[in-house]
Amino acid sequence: MHASDSQQALLRALPSVDALVRAADPTRLFAAEFVSDYARDLLTRTRTAIRAGATPDVAHLADDLQADLRRLLEPYPRHVINGTGVIVQTNLGRAPVSRATAAAMAAAAQHYVALEMRLDSGERGGRAAVVEQLLCRLTGAEAALVVNNNASAILLTLTALTAGREVLLSRGEAVEIGGGFRVPDVLRASGATLVDVGTTNRTYARDYAAAASSATAALLRVHASNYVVQGFTHQPTLAELRAVASAAGVLLIEDVGSGCLVDTSAYGLLPEPRLGDSIAAGVDVVTASGDKLLGGPQAGIVLGRRDVVDMLRRHPLYRAMRADKTCLAGLHTTLLHYAQDRAEAEIPVWWSVSRPREWVRERAEAWVAALGGAARVVLSESAIGGGSLPTQMLPSFALELTTDHPQRLARALRTGAQPVVPRVAADAVLIDGRTVLADEDDALLGAVRSALAG
Ligand SMILES: *Cc1c(COP(=O)(O)O)cnc(C)c1O
Repeated sequence: MHASDSQQALLRALPSVDALVRAADPTRLFAAEFVSDYARDLLTRTRTAIRAGATPDVAHLADDLQADLRRLLEPYPRHVINGTGVIVQTNLGRAPVSRATAAAMAAAAQHYVALEMRLDSGERGGRAAVVEQLLCRLTGAEAALVVNNNASAILLTLTALTAGREVLLSRGEAVEIGGGFRVPDVLRASGATLVDVGTTNRTYARDYAAAASSATAALLRVHASNYVVQGFTHQPTLAELRAVASAAGVLLIEDVGSGCLVDTSAYGLLPEPRLGDSIAAGVDVVTASGDKLLGGPQAGIVLGRRDVVDMLRRHPLYRAMRADKTCLAGLHTTLLHYAQDRAEAEIPVWWSVSRPREWVRERAEAWVAALGGAARVVLSESAIGGGSLPTQMLPSFALELTTDHPQRLARALRTGAQPVVPRVAADAVLIDGRTVLADEDDALLGAVRSALAG
């Protein structure tokens, strides 16, 4: 097929690779080859588009390339101010870590560290021993293991302990956690056979007892973290499950999800199961995330009986999933905050949860005063998020920016020099006073002023 005259004209108007590179990166921020490869790709795509009948603006190719290059230079991931009111916001990277935790992670990343060496003898030492010791002290567990995230913790646990055998799971707990993580799929991937027990709303200890056989490897309890079944419901306690598992001679495995170490009822919330509660109830293994209510770096935490945890440690999958030095350094500092009774003061998640209602109101009022009448304070609610306590809300106050175009203002906030992620209502944009971090007030006010001006 022959190109038409107008297509020929467009093709002839395309700049050379060199001209494009000079125009798009005049101060040579990037390696020459990096930009010329990029430019060549762009020209190839543009030629193909022209031949297919498109009429791209060839005069602006250099601008397009320059914009692409600028975007590459932006810090990634962008620091955003969380105005959503959701404390553990999955799309915003879940738990921000404490200042001390971030410093410990950066220091471990920058230097050589004694990760697997005993400094007294110079001999090879156990990885993560101190972190495991802290986890055990804080929860009462005999042994602990740290992997990359809770999904790997569960996959490792099920693969090492139940492959080729049956796992009993309540129909009410065959859940999807989010991000495509579905408990029945993970069970299948681990080589175990799922045996459904009970019904969606009511499952009794006797259902597990009836389903247990010589083929059973374990009872699995999954904390249905992101939804609740209300009304005519029943779920056996961990103690009841412990009794059934012991009578049947099988393991009791729990995926508790959020990794909470704190009594949430102290904040007027329902009690979120704590890691120590699971250990006290006698589970053989419990798994959790490090970056939900624990408030630390992304990690998977496995706690339980020493012989069982040792089996996991010896499994080849552990080598594929073990936590890196920065994660272990961060977890160490985060766990120390609990050991020193400094969780509320140091860990952002618990700082946010523990802000008194009046404190949040005064903060929102100070924002309004600083913004000078463009805004007002409204009653709001914050959520824990991260799949924890899905129906539980904390009283809060928000900065309300009334506008005819809330989506447009929200976009301006998200795309400013200091991005802010607000909550968008029908006729207003809201910024929750509980989830903006302690040192972000000035940055927030600057960002709101620019968004309102722009
Ligand atoms: C969040 C969650 C997971 C997944 O944990 P990751 O750390 O994201 O891998 C698994 N199970 C439960 C119950 C959860 O709440």
